[in-house]
Amino acid sequence: MAHSAAVPGVNAGVALRARPVDFARWRARDLSGWTDSEMLEAYKRLENTSAGDDSLRGRSGPLPIHQMRREELTPSVRAFIDASVSEGLERLADVNGTGQNGVTAYQLNVLEGVRQNTGMAYLSDGVRRRPNLTLRGGTEIDRLILDGDVARGVVATDGTEFTADEVILSAGAYGSAAILMRSGIGPADHLRSLGIPVVADLPVGLHLQNQPFFYNVYALRPGKLAMTPPGGALIWTRSSEAADDELDIHISATHLIEPESSPTGGAIVLAVSIIRPDSIGSVRLSSRDPRDAPVIDYNFLAEPRDRRRMVEAVKLCRRIGAGERFSEVAEFELLPGDTVRDDAELERHILDNLGSYEHTTSTVPMGGDDDEWAVVDSVGAVHSVANVRVVDASIFPEVPATATNLTAIMTAEYLFQRVYGT
Ligand SMILES: Cc1cc2nc3c(=O)[nH]c(=O)nc-3n(C[C@H](O)[C@H](O)[C@H](O)COP(=O)(O)OP(=O)(O)OC[C@H]3O[C@@H](n4cnc5c(N)ncnc54)[C@H](O)[C@@H]3O)c2cc1C
Repeated sequence: MAHSAAVPGVNAGVALRARPVDFARWRARDLSGWTDSEMLEAYKRLENTSAGDDSLRGRSGPLPIHQMRREELTPSVRAFIDASVSEGLERLADVNGTGQNGVTAYQLNVLEGVRQNTGMAYLSDGVRRRPNLTLRGGTEIDRLILDGDVARGVVATDGTEFTADEVILSAGAYGSAAILMRSGIGPADHLRSLGIPVVADLPVGLHLQNQPFFYNVYALRPGKLAMTPPGGALIWTRSSEAADDELDIHISATHLIEPESSPTGGAIVLAVSIIRPDSIGSVRLSSRDPRDAPVIDYNFLAEPRDRRRMVEAVKLCRRIGAGERFSEVAEFELLPGDTVRDDAELERHILDNLGSYEHTTSTVPMGGDDDEWAVVDSVGAVHSVANVRVVDASIFPEVPATATNLTAIMTAEYLFQRVYGT
């Protein structure tokens, strides 16, 4: 779901690591490895940044990461940061370093205004010239070629077959789950209902996680209407119900909204998310045909604790929005607006106007033999099927309490070194 006033979704390039508490939860699913020191090394290996401390940050990896400076931000994003500090939040020195509870300008994998995706960062001209690498654009994979419970390759939707000693699926939280299910690897009842012969009865698609997103929008004052660059700053903090060391709230300040949606001709979005949701969704096939989109159910805010924390987080956001410093740049609140006041009204409004943070994970989760959700093991190998591995955000046992792109890349860095030793 996207908010009606929102600009159509693009990856903003926000570069945030997951925290040790996330990996502790992953390891509790009977995973070997995934230690804090291994994660730190893999995050350092992937990045090239001048931000932060040498002991914590990478200086020579393929992915450039830029710490936005105060002078690069719009006046209203600057005011958001100052207003957050007035509300008691700490100004963070390096959000990808030691401390995350506070407010900060974004770190972005954006270089001179151009977002750096993995194709650009990793597939350099030298890599593209390797004789043992063939890239085929526009090739959509239907399913695995299986010889009993041994993978021998993949079949594209046009029928082309690619044989291989080992298959690595990296088609993302929807795509990898769909390919496995079309191959007969998934919940047996679901596969049978679509006429797909069952190869392995595994809970593919049943532990989808994503983070709900709510837009608290303000009309900017004349003279403060700048909306470029669109990002941004971030509050990362905890609700009153956060467990242990968890930080379960994000409030992201951006201009990802049409200026015409504001009567003043400019707006700022303070987008609120509960980033450690209890609610679990699902992805299922709608048919055996790879051209048919899967059925995705985020199941946002199904759990009462998620709903309570969301209301609490939006109230924190509105306090910052109503504060003296933010009012210098914001003329009035557009959404939810004056008519939405008490907690019950706010909860109803949130439920009616919810969007997605687009951090979908955990449809093919890692876990040990006794984990009821597990589809793959600690190195991404599919349980009870040989020669097929999944390496992408689908294998996260749970969504980390943050944005997910860096952790998806780090997962590939980590598993590549762990499995192949290079
Ligand atoms: C609008 C939006 C904004 C986002 N912004 C941010 C952000 O600012 N920061 C952040 O950290 N995260 C962000 N994310 C999340 C981030 O993009 C994902 O977590 C990350 O890309 C996951 O990586 P992945 O490798 O698992 O999957 P993907 O990056 O989705 O890669 C999967 C690839 O497989 C391809 N594919 C799928 N099915 C098939 C098939 N059958 N055959 C062949 N190819 C297939 C897809 O086309 C895709 O290229 C955003 C996501 C969205 C949607």
